[in-house]
Amino acid sequence: MGLVVQKYGGSSVADAEGIKRVAKRIVEAKQNGNQVVAVVSAMGDTTDELIDLAEQVSPMPAGRELDMLLTAGERISMALLAMAIKKLGHEAQSFTGSQAGVITDSVHNKARIIDVTPGRIKTSVDEGNIAIVAGFQGVSQDTKDITTLGRGGSDTTAVALAAALDADVCEIYTDVDGVFTADPRVVKKARKIDWISFEDMLELAASGSKVLLHRCVEYARRYNIPIHVRSSFSGLQGTWVSSEPVVRTTQQGDKQVEQALISGVAHDTSEAKVTVVGVPDKPGEAASIFRAIADAEINIDMVVQNVSAASTGLTDISFTLPKTEGRKAIDALEKNKAGIGFDSLRYDDQIGKISLVGAGMKTNPGVTADFFTALSDAGVNIELISTSEIRISVVTRADDVPEAVRAVHSAFGLDSDSDEAVVYGGTGR
Ligand code: ADP
Ligand code: ASP
Ligand code: MG
Repeated sequence: MGLVVQKYGGSSVADAEGIKRVAKRIVEAKQNGNQVVAVVSAMGDTTDELIDLAEQVSPMPAGRELDMLLTAGERISMALLAMAIKKLGHEAQSFTGSQAGVITDSVHNKARIIDVTPGRIKTSVDEGNIAIVAGFQGVSQDTKDITTLGRGGSDTTAVALAAALDADVCEIYTDVDGVFTADPRVVKKARKIDWISFEDMLELAASGSKVLLHRCVEYARRYNIPIHVRSSFSGLQGTWVSSEPVVRTTQQGDKQVEQALISGVAHDTSEAKVTVVGVPDKPGEAASIFRAIADAEINIDMVVQNVSAASTGLTDISFTLPKTEGRKAIDALEKNKAGIGFDSLRYDDQIGKISLVGAGMKTNPGVTADFFTALSDAGVNIELISTSEIRISVVTRADDVPEAVRAVHSAFGLDSDSDEAVVYGGTGR
């Protein structure tokens, strides 16, 4: 008998009908002879609504209390799902993250999983139950407080449980048919990818393709857990994310799915840009700016330092970070203004990032030029650039993002010439 871990995102369990539909799918997996552990997210946009509610009460709510509030969302869906499964005549038990043995560090709102001790889940499935686990949450090893894993964290819960339980596969059920060459909400002609390597998926996820969270892909790569991303609304095969290309059986015999040169285009409008203006151009300045940011436990993304003006000996340093960390970053820099010695700070949250990802970039020198040409043909101005071996990213005005994504997608021949990509649910929030 195999063990399958399935994860259902918020859009798959948005209402009572969704819960009943998902319950049927879970029961089918059980009837196919598997032990089943289902990880579930909060219903629909519940997490966003709870954050809005918290902000109405307090603009910067305490991390511990925010986690306590947000984990309630997943508790609602896990209990309802267990009830729906029982109604179908099967045994199910729901568990919070803490009960499921998801142990984390103590960084509220973006805790990291440090261990998974799934004894209760193992016992439950061995006794014949379907185990339902609340995603996105754990318990701190040190403080014993309840933590959350950061937005989209249920993906990580699922992979971490799959690794700890030595599952055969981790299935991520969502509101689109798999991982596409771009977000189907932006590019109707996006193509479904049959197989993608952990490396390319990691870059896409880190660049904003929220279909999988990058920490979840990191975890899957470390423990070599294959992920199957698919729709909970259709019966179609989705996208396999794994280290080795999957072999598909065709009428002509077995065929290896090949690694594409370019995997896709990702975009992200969740970041903001901070510019530290008038920084003395001398050793140690960047170190003290980014030390202040790191001490506030803020992760940054791109960094650019301008050439200093010869007349003043002053330079500007810009960096991007999640909008949700903007206030904290500005406060941290202001507090250290005298020590760092800059003139002023500028904050811009009307930016967007577009990234092109693909292993083929390493060996194709023309890719960067084609990328910039596509953006220029679309009339899009570039503000920051960063690259890795298999990714090029640019920052533009937020308003330019949809057009820029479509232009790059077409320029690299990624447009599908058959069907339009289907988005089955969700609000895209
Ligand atoms: P869930 O609620 O199931 O966790 P998410 O909203 O987190 O769903 O992720 C699914 C969404 O990710 C899709 O509806 C789609 O808009 C978005 N998305 C972004 N980039 C991609 C991509 N490359 N392929 C597929 N979906 C993508
Ligand atoms: N409910 C959480 C969120 O909206 C976790 C998740 O959906 O994965 O971010
Ligand atoms: Mg998600």
